[in-house]
This record gives sequence, C-alpha cells and structure tokens, in this order.
Amino acid sequence: MNPMLVVDNLRAGYAGVPVVHGASLHVARGEIVSIIGANGAGKSTLVACLCGLVQPMSGRVMMDGRDVTAVPAHRRQASGIAVVLEGRHLFPELSVRDNLAIAEATGERQRRGHRRLTRDEVFELFPVVRERLASPVGLLSGGQQQMVAIARALLLQPDLLVLDELTTGLAPIVVKDILNVLTRLRDRGLSLLLVEQSIRIAADLSDRSYVMSVGRMVHEVGADDWPRLLADDALVKAYLHG
Ligand code: ATP
Repeated sequence: MNPMLVVDNLRAGYAGVPVVHGASLHVARGEIVSIIGANGAGKSTLVACLCGLVQPMSGRVMMDGRDVTAVPAHRRQASGIAVVLEGRHLFPELSVRDNLAIAEATGERQRRGHRRLTRDEVFELFPVVRERLASPVGLLSGGQQQMVAIARALLLQPDLLVLDELTTGLAPIVVKDILNVLTRLRDRGLSLLLVEQSIRIAADLSDRSYVMSVGRMVHEVGADDWPRLLADDALVKAYLHG
C-alpha cells in the first residue's frame, strides 16, 4: 500500500491539555475513509491538526511521504491537503465566482504540476455552482453553499480532501448528490477523509472507517464489517452516541 496520508501517534489539545491521545490512521490513494465518534471524541481537533490550525504536542502528519506536521495552515494546500471545515467558511457577501477565484489562483500558484480538475470539470460535478456564479454566496441554500465549499476546495487541486461534518443539516436529496460526487472523485484517484456524525453515511460510502473515542482510534471497520459492528449494541452505545 502506498498511503497518501499517515497520521502517526498524534497528541494534541488546548492550553497544554491533550484531547487527542495518540491517534493513528492512514488514507490510501483513491480511498474514502471516515472517522466517526461521539461528540467530544476529538475529531474536530484532529482535523484542525490536518489543516495546521492546531499544532500537535507530539506525533506526525505525513502527506505523500513528506512530514507536514509543522507546515503552517496557509501552506497546507501546497502539501496537497484541502479541508472543508464545518460551517464552510465562505465569504457570504462575495459572489460564487469570487469565492472560487481565490482558491483557483492559490491552486494554480501552489500546486503547479499537480492539477487534477479544471474549472469546467468542477462545474460538471456541481452544475448548480456554475448556474449561480454571479450570486452572492449568502443567498444560496445550505446545500448549494456546501457544494461551493467543496468546489472551492477542489480548485486548490488537493490529493486529499478532508470533509468535516459535511452532511449535517442538509436535505437527504442534496446529501445524495454530494455523496455521488465524492464517489466520482474517489474513482478519479482523489483520497477522501470524512468526519461523519452519520453512521449510515460512513457505512454506505467509505472503504474503511475509524471509530474515535476519547482521543484515540478504538476500532477500524472495513466496508464488510459494518453489519457486525452495528449489531453490537453495547459498542454502538459506548462509542457512537455520546
Ligand atoms: P463534536 O462532534 O462535538 O465537534 P469532536 O469529536 O469533534 O466533537 P472536538 O471538537 O475535537 O471533538 O473536542 C474534543 C475536546 O476538546 C472537547 O472536550 C472540547 O470541549 C475540547 N475543545 C475543542 N475545541 C477547543 C478549544 N478551542 N479550546 C479548548 N478546548 C476545546
């Protein structure tokens, strides 16, 4: 196996107090991996380490064989990691076009030679984004904004796309559309790491999943292992509804 992302024994927290206690995981090229776990398990803190917003106390983040643990947030996309954070963090007063233009320029500058998707290919994945180019992002529905956020991340030309709480609050039909696009991206060789509240989505979409509890990965679940895991009431209660 040739992993795209390796997180090795990561410890991280706030004001010297760890909330991630030695978490390890990997994502191969062209693989969809989910992290699931109860509220407070440390999932968002782990994501913050992946995008450079929190500096780990120890452990390593390796991307495509390179140690990127100390790379600052504004240089992470140059390492091939793009993150769609919970809440999306778009510029609501700016048009869809301008929101995308910022990412596109960064992708061209920092990822020269790594281009995966043209702007037209991104629009093909999300036709509604093209239709709404002139509109201020703040006027779009939640689902459309999520599509703009993913389109923007894709224009950074990542090798790994990290999606935090992607589907929370979205209508089922929109979720279906977005998941469909993620599968197509995986089939094009992109690696995807999803932090998911919904076990159902993790089970349906992922090649593998990790169950995170109190700052550690406590189970690794292959696509075929889900029925066994979900049948284990004690395990589901202990780790997934917290
Ligand atoms: P959720 O699904 O609720 O977002 P999570 O699994 O993503 O949960 P984290 O958000 O990483 O978990 O939180 C792990 C622990 O770290 C929690 O106890 C939380 O209160 C604490 N924490 C998170 N962010 C901060 C912060 N900025 N400062 C201090 N403590 C924090």
